[in-house]
Amino acid sequence: MKFCVMSQCLFCRIAAGEIPAEKLYDDGEIFVIKDINPAAPFHVLIIPHKHIARLSDLGAGDLELPGRVYSQAAKIAHDEGFADEGYRVVANCNEGGGQTVFHIHFHLLAGRKMTWPPG
Ligand code: AMP
Ligand code: ZN
Repeated sequence: MKFCVMSQCLFCRIAAGEIPAEKLYDDGEIFVIKDINPAAPFHVLIIPHKHIARLSDLGAGDLELPGRVYSQAAKIAHDEGFADEGYRVVANCNEGGGQTVFHIHFHLLAGRKMTWPPG
């Protein structure tokens, strides 16, 4: 099941069009929206349609998803003009990793100098 209309999951509901979001891309496998609370001048979320709660729940059948995500991130960074300057792709896993929405997603951040280590 790609999504359930009865789902309480925020990103499933955005995918289903039940909650509005500024969508930049959707190929039926992954979609990209602007983050509602940007942590950088450019901040989007790359989200698989499939409801997978967290990074550590990726199954054997999901292994091509991260490749799609990173490939799309590189394309967006190129198209938006951040490829040479640099950008960051990050996935937070579980509360200790900073995850607040339990539907797997990857942050693409750009437009400022990133610091390391992250907070
Ligand atoms: P994380 O904390 O890694 O789970 O990331 C969740 C992200 O979702 C945060 O950066 C939030 O700002 C973002 N977010 C929460 N609600 C929405 C929404 N309705 N539309 C777009 N982004 C959202
Ligand atoms: Zn979901």
